[in-house]
Amino acid sequence: MAEKIWLASPHMSEEGYEMAYIKEAFDTNWVAPLGPNVTEFENELAAKVGAKAASATTTGTAAIHLALKLVGVKEGDIVLCQSLTFSASANPIIYEKATPVFVDSDFVTWNMDPLLLEQALIKYGDRVKAVIVVHLYGLAADMDKIVELCNKYNVVLIEDAAESLGTYYKGKHTGTFGEFGVFSFNGNKIITTSGGGMLVSDNEEKIAKTRFWATQARDQARHYQHSELGFNYRMSNVVAGIGRGQLKVLEQRVAKKKYIFKYYKRELCYLEGVEFMPINDWNEPNYWLSVMTLNGQVRPIQIMEALETENIESRPVWKPMHMQPFFEKYDYVGGDVSEKLFENGVCLPSDTKMTDDDLERVCKITKGLWR
Ligand SMILES: *Cc1c(COP(=O)(O)O)cnc(C)c1O
Repeated sequence: MAEKIWLASPHMSEEGYEMAYIKEAFDTNWVAPLGPNVTEFENELAAKVGAKAASATTTGTAAIHLALKLVGVKEGDIVLCQSLTFSASANPIIYEKATPVFVDSDFVTWNMDPLLLEQALIKYGDRVKAVIVVHLYGLAADMDKIVELCNKYNVVLIEDAAESLGTYYKGKHTGTFGEFGVFSFNGNKIITTSGGGMLVSDNEEKIAKTRFWATQARDQARHYQHSELGFNYRMSNVVAGIGRGQLKVLEQRVAKKKYIFKYYKRELCYLEGVEFMPINDWNEPNYWLSVMTLNGQVRPIQIMEALETENIESRPVWKPMHMQPFFEKYDYVGGDVSEKLFENGVCLPSDTKMTDDDLERVCKITKGLWR
């Protein structure tokens, strides 16, 4: 069997930065939650993206949940959420018993269509408390228009930037346009801590509040006293050490992801029906995954099966939320853009440990389907 090529797998630094921070945590017995790595990871990530404050969590999903808690969404409220995404964008809306309404993407950005967002804002009026926009595959959404609409209709903007650490929109880091931004360090993301997340905001008080909730909402008292509902959502000091090390190689990872994308595009763009994900000139993506769409004879499933036979992992594009059995009962504002992207899209292996030989293998197998 040929050597496995992954879609996107953890890639620790060759320099061993992560291990040094972990060792320090062990040496000082800061293995338990909190400790200097957590605080430093928060500071370093906030500085990297240009936010005033950050709160480190066990997962990105937990960070989205805490953002919705800060907004105060409750039963009867509506949260407008991009349909083309991973379910973790939408699940926390249900945790808080609010109602999601899904919004379609446009072909220009693959993310939330601002025209449809406005339709949804008009349709649901005052019931809308928040908008969750996603920067899918590291492609920035149309932030100028989305921010303007959220201001105009007075709703809180939450950016699910789980896939877009390292992505800039007009020179400003994604996750810093809305009141809250969320990052993920899950195993397949551009940098990973094995699992983890981060909530960022310019509102330091609100970020401090999430640290309180995330450590079981313990009031300041010698005994265990709770005036509010708590969560066990805080990142551990060991995990944060991995994050600090990984943050040092983020630019290297983005550069390699970009190299992978350009390689595929150069080799495959001339094939009949093939198009690559849109790179707009205001968008400086992290190229988390290289995604192409197929509008001709060759179908995504053929490519995925041919690669799988050769021990190479690839994936379809996310199945939109409005098509998911669990979410299909909720309203959807849009047409068939996200459905088309789901039907026609393939995520090619975009692992930063891939060599040119690996890339050549993937291209050769793919091209073989057009012969
Ligand atoms: C990975 C991901 C999340 C969730 O992050 P976890 O850390 O796995 O909880 C949320 N939204 C999107 C778009 C993601 O890709």
